Amino acid sequence: MKYVSTRGGVAPVEFSAVLLEGLARDGGLAMPQTIPQVSAETLSQWRSLNYAQLATEILSLFITDIPKEDLRDLCERSYNTSIFNHPDIVPLKPLDAQIHIVGLSEGPTLAFKDIAMQFLGNIFEYVLAKQGCTLNILGATSGDTGSAAEYALRGKKGVNVFMLSPYGRMSEFQRAQMYSLQDKNIFNLSVKGVFDECQDIVKALANDLTFKETYHLGAVNSINFARISAQIVYYFWAWLRATQKAGEQVSFTVPSGNFGNILAGHMARMMGLPIRRLVVATNENNVLEEFFNTGVYRPRQPEQTYATSSPSMDISKASNFERFVYHLVNEDGQKVKALWQTLAEEGQFDLSALQPELEAKFGFVAGVSTHQDRLATIKQEYETNHYLLDPHTADGVKVAREYVEEGIPMLVLETALPAKFTETIQEAIGQPAPIPAHLSGLKDLPQRVEVMDCDVAVVRDYMIRHITH
Ligand SMILES: *Cc1c(COP(=O)(O)O)cnc(C)c1O
Repeated sequence: MKYVSTRGGVAPVEFSAVLLEGLARDGGLAMPQTIPQVSAETLSQWRSLNYAQLATEILSLFITDIPKEDLRDLCERSYNTSIFNHPDIVPLKPLDAQIHIVGLSEGPTLAFKDIAMQFLGNIFEYVLAKQGCTLNILGATSGDTGSAAEYALRGKKGVNVFMLSPYGRMSEFQRAQMYSLQDKNIFNLSVKGVFDECQDIVKALANDLTFKETYHLGAVNSINFARISAQIVYYFWAWLRATQKAGEQVSFTVPSGNFGNILAGHMARMMGLPIRRLVVATNENNVLEEFFNTGVYRPRQPEQTYATSSPSMDISKASNFERFVYHLVNEDGQKVKALWQTLAEEGQFDLSALQPELEAKFGFVAGVSTHQDRLATIKQEYETNHYLLDPHTADGVKVAREYVEEGIPMLVLETALPAKFTETIQEAIGQPAPIPAHLSGLKDLPQRVEVMDCDVAVVRDYMIRHITH
């Protein structure tokens, strides 16, 4: 399997080459040159596999420059009960007769990002050791991504993590989760500024090409195709658990922000998994809902991006969306390039002529959920079905109910556990979310964090002093 750029300007490369790079050289995103097809017969043979075995089968379709035995080892080390708090790794839980919750949040940071990130941590270490390289991951986080990256890369050889977080703006639980890590290769930098200022420091350092090359800077952002490929696995897993026989259809609803999670569902559907609908659920930041309902893609300015009670979906543009558009325009890189040119010049592009295809050909539909919807859904599902949803998953359930069809299981992806967002749970049901038993002592652990001024030079200096070659 070779990888090409969505903008058509790069010669095909192997998986290992796209793993360590961010954007392709022409500004596009890496995509597999062909989509592997999985037959009904193969699917039925996969029914008896456990999660790590299924991951090995699916990932070996995308990763052909690493021996399958090594991939199996990476998958077994990523998906086991010392890391995930459930024997199934991803349990399927009935909400009512029609809706199932896909439990993606049993990992160390209680959010779905752990699933791809655990695999990414192991494959990074593997590829770096093979190439004899080291990497210094630099990132900024307001919560979910940074902690998932730290838990995936803690103690890994050849990798350091420098994670900037805004001082005084993280919840007690988020602080305890990140700052209690004592591993020598994890550096928590609490910067006296807001998240956007942390992000600006990261950009400034990554754009300093001399610094970047001298200190081998890297990133683990959501555009890494390795993350997408690891996410494809749980769509197959959930289908295998929710159906009995070949060809049975299910629908998925995905609480969406940067379009990484649901893009993996789109890939699974293109591979032949019998998915009827892919339902995009957004919060008030409805860039994607607007696109799927009108065909017009119109990213927002930062000042039009709302801070909501499902904060991990507060996006102004959807970074992975270009990968879907690439398929929508029949893998024509020149067309994608032209669309993003229009976007840069006019702030939007219009594919309304193709809008009917979004559902007819690709199964996509979309809906919005607001703060009031979120609160009402959390309360209602708690009272009627005795299930406590996190705010993001509640957005999913709210929109899923609009698209439930008789006889077709609706699977809603649980993108986080409620304990992570207990303020909103308190507002919805008048009491805080329970902390999972295995994490009850977290907030009493000693914390390891460096507080510093919001200044590029200060952060650069700190990194230089702490990077060991
Ligand atoms: C990251 C995240 C999302 C959004 O996922 P995308 O892949 O960006 O669409 C939704 N919910 C939670 C809890 C998240 O952490």
